[in-house]
Amino acid sequence: MSCVFCRIISKEIPAEILHEDPDCVVFKDINPQAPVHLLVVPKRHLTSVASAREEDKQLLGHLLLVAAKAAREHGLADKGFRLVINTGERGGQTVGHLHVHVLGGRQMRWPPG
Ligand code: AMP
Ligand code: ZN
Repeated sequence: MSCVFCRIISKEIPAEILHEDPDCVVFKDINPQAPVHLLVVPKRHLTSVASAREEDKQLLGHLLLVAAKAAREHGLADKGFRLVINTGERGGQTVGHLHVHVLGGRQMRWPPG
């Protein structure tokens, strides 16, 4: 059985997809934590950044560039935004398919909880 993000990518379950290319998709987070909350998700199931390997280098770079472009397109570049990659249990990762959160539209705080 495939994971929830694999099922979004294969269009088995709906999501508000804003960008799709051969390697990744961008869709709106179902439970937004900021006025803009997007997820950049590789099409290939990769559990987390901790399980990424040397051959994933180009994909990882692509995800960051797509995240920055999505932030720009949502008007976040001027005032700033936050990219987050929760990793593993202590990192707060709840979906075991690598994803980059794009958060913006409000002041972010540090340190995160
Ligand atoms: P993380 O906790 O970093 O693993 O992030 C998982 C994110 O996926 C959370 O912010 C959830 O709100 C989001 N999420 C879970 N299921 C869906 C879904 N079906 N569509 C969109 N976002 C989802
Ligand atoms: Zn998956």
